[in-house]
Amino acid sequence: MTELTHYINGQRVSGNSGRFGDVFNPATGEIQARVPLASKEEFDTAVKIAAEAQPAWGAVNPQRRARVMMKFVDLLHRDMDKLAEVLSSEHGKTFPDAKGDVQRGLEVAEYCIGAPQMLKGEFTDSAGPGIDMYSMKQPLGVCGGITPFNFPAMIPMWMFTPAIVCGNAFILKPSERDPSVPILLAELMEEAGLPKGILQVVNGDKVSVDAMLTNPTIQSVGFVGSTPIAEYIYGTGCANGKRVQCFGGAKNHMIVMPDADMDLAADALVGSGYGAAGERCMAISVAVPVGEDTADRLIEKLVPRVEKLKVGPYTAGDDIDFGPVVTSAAKQNILSLVQSGIDQGAELVVDGRDFSLQGYEDGFFVGAHLFDRVTPEMDIYKKEIFGPVLSTVRAGSYEEAIGLAMNHEYGNGTAIFTRDGDTARDFANRINIGMVGVNVPIPVPLAYHTFGGWKKSVFGDLNQHGPDAFKFYTRTKTVTSRWPSGIKEGGEFNFKAMD
Ligand code: NAD
Repeated sequence: MTELTHYINGQRVSGNSGRFGDVFNPATGEIQARVPLASKEEFDTAVKIAAEAQPAWGAVNPQRRARVMMKFVDLLHRDMDKLAEVLSSEHGKTFPDAKGDVQRGLEVAEYCIGAPQMLKGEFTDSAGPGIDMYSMKQPLGVCGGITPFNFPAMIPMWMFTPAIVCGNAFILKPSERDPSVPILLAELMEEAGLPKGILQVVNGDKVSVDAMLTNPTIQSVGFVGSTPIAEYIYGTGCANGKRVQCFGGAKNHMIVMPDADMDLAADALVGSGYGAAGERCMAISVAVPVGEDTADRLIEKLVPRVEKLKVGPYTAGDDIDFGPVVTSAAKQNILSLVQSGIDQGAELVVDGRDFSLQGYEDGFFVGAHLFDRVTPEMDIYKKEIFGPVLSTVRAGSYEEAIGLAMNHEYGNGTAIFTRDGDTARDFANRINIGMVGVNVPIPVPLAYHTFGGWKKSVFGDLNQHGPDAFKFYTRTKTVTSRWPSGIKEGGEFNFKAMD
């Protein structure tokens, strides 16, 4: 049995808490490794090391820090296949999906190469006689991040690359379900030139999360995961005086108007609803066709597509559409929600409950499910399923459709499929959701825009990556300076002159 480690002060370090979590191969159901779950003392040790290393790193000029990112990006390209292989083996997603996971993190590292531009301050010459005023963006110190299982490469990189290029030290507490890739990333950052102690990985569970939330040296906490935990982390982190941003769960609606290209809409729903087994926070989980005729046409297009989806292990090749879900508990949760949908009166038009794969009977595979005639009172509509289950809610009108999306507690992403510019524009302007697609099913903003939902999908003010990341990982200091020569020229210094 492989025993995984933490990554502390530039090396892999065994856990000493005596507590471990199981890391599964989701395709076979076997335990392939155990991951140490850190004690508070182990976490606090990493914080001390980070605090000692950070001032020197914060003093390195931004261009040199950016060069580390440049090299890191090269190394990610070099090791892409290796990273994707490790990622798929712990997460279960297909090999192309795993490469996409690394790629979307890499793009934020690329964006961070622009740090010298992003970190420039502001300067006002002669704000008063002999007085100049300038502001600078300084690192916070030691920052922490807690990440979910579903993007074990991308989301850690969304956090640590901007944090580090801004001059901070960063401690990552990745998901205990798939913890190997973050350690490989930390090693690559050091191969790229990052000093030891600036990026550390402490594996663990609530114990290490609570250690992060209460350690007074930790200045900021970033979190991505489910909404109940996001709420807890935001509340506790803020109460402990930290800067906190938390990104939570989702229930993303796609509205299909009667004039939509129905093949395009059906393809988009299949890709976004079932890709990565539905384990994406930007997955479309609710299709909302407008009008009975649109719904009938959409279902007719969807059924054969959903039935054709190929489910299998990532090792079976690139034509697999999606792999297993992450744990047996996740599988049971999905299947019990499917049962609740049937019990509450939804129509299961594609039934994946009996899905089984020869040779992988103990794997955590769930077949694709498609529900029609779902209503807003049903659990499958209210709850995030996070599995390959697409619900169709038939709306009588555009107003009813937009109302559904607006009244749902989550507000991560949404999409509309239509050929009508007015409707699309109205939707984009009125909807109370953070990321909107027009004929685009998964509207994930690129690295130089910011990523974030609204409502119960987010807690905090600033989004991830893009310019917001440079705001989140720095604080502004404004200096007002007066030099005697200016006073001589301007006479006696008078603060009124600044008005
Ligand atoms: P999760 O909330 O179970 O776990 C996320 C992190 O929190 C992990 O590191 C975990 O160890 C830690 N954690 C779990 N329970 C905890 C507790 N009681 N106290 C403190 N820490 C705890 O989420 P997950 O299952 O890993 O990921 C799936 C969820 O993440 C979904 O809800 C999905 O929508 C969401 N997600 C959101 C976004 C976004 O940007 N909004 C992106 C990806 C995933």
